[in-house]
Amino acid sequence: MAEQKHICRRCLLQDMAGENDYYQSVLRYRRTLPAAKRTPDGAYAARLAACRACEQLENATCKACGCYVEMRAARLDMHCPLTRAAW
Ligand code: SF4
Repeated sequence: MAEQKHICRRCLLQDMAGENDYYQSVLRYRRTLPAAKRTPDGAYAARLAACRACEQLENATCKACGCYVEMRAARLDMHCPLTRAAW
């Protein structure tokens, strides 16, 4: 019998820490972004809260663009692909 894959519609990589090292990549990516390009902590948290409430989020990935939302939200100049706004 095929193994059932768990799909989480409200999960970010940070919720799956321990299952993979992708979240460590997110942390490293944010740390190494120049300050002028890095979304400030408060705005970053607000972006991720919006993603958690969005129907397009599935297993930490935005179905509208295919990005890990924590990576996409990390860059100040990126936007939500649906609203075309900075979340
Ligand atoms: S980036 Fe936009 S469309 Fe994608 S999950 Fe976040 S809020 Fe939803």
